[in-house]
Amino acid sequence: PLPQVVIIGRPNVGKSTLFNRLVGKKLALVDDQPGVTRDRRKGVAGLAGLEFEAVDTAGWEDEDDRSLPGRMRAQTQVSLKDADAALFVIDSRADLTPLDEEIGQWLREQNVPVVLIANKAEGRSGQSGILEAYSLGLGEPIPVSAEHGEGIADLYTALFPLI
Ligand code: GDP
Ligand code: MG
Repeated sequence: PLPQVVIIGRPNVGKSTLFNRLVGKKLALVDDQPGVTRDRRKGVAGLAGLEFEAVDTAGWEDEDDRSLPGRMRAQTQVSLKDADAALFVIDSRADLTPLDEEIGQWLREQNVPVVLIANKAEGRSGQSGILEAYSLGLGEPIPVSAEHGEGIADLYTALFPLI
C-alpha cells in the first residue's frame, strides 16, 4: 500500500486546493466559504515516480464546535491514525490564528511526522507569515502556492524522507 499523507489545517487555508493540485484532479470541493469539505477525500499523488495517498480533511471546519473532542475533529484524528505523515497547511498571507496554534500544538502531541506548508505564497507574497510560522515549532515552513502550482517539488523534497 502507498504511504498515507493527511492534509490538515484550519478552514480556508487551501487544503482542498492543495489536495487537487497533488492528485491532479478536481476530487475535492474548493470554496470561498469555510466548511465545504465534509468528507475525507483520498487520491493518489505522485511526482517523478514518488507516490503517496493524499487525504483531504475538514476536521476543524465546524465553527460551532471548536472544543476538543468535536465530532469532525475526531474524524481528523481517525485519519491521522492511519497516516504516515501530515501536511499541516497555514495561510502565509495571514497572521497565525489561535486555531493554527491549537492545531499545531495538537499535531506536536501526535506520533506522526509533520511537514509545515505555508500556502498562498505565490510570487513571494506572504513572507511575514512564513517567518511567523517558525514559531509553531514544527520545523521549516515550505512556501507553496497550491492554486498556482508553485513549491510543489519542494513539498515532495521535504515529505519523502519522512514516509
Ligand atoms: P480549505 O478550506 O482549507 O480546504 O481551503 P480551499 O482549498 O477550499 O481554499 C480556500 C480559498 O483559498 C479558495 O478561495 C481558494 O481558491 C484559495 N486558495 C487556495 N490556495 C491558494 C493559493 O495558493 N493562493 C491563493 N491566493 N489562494 C488560494
Ligand atoms: Mg476543504
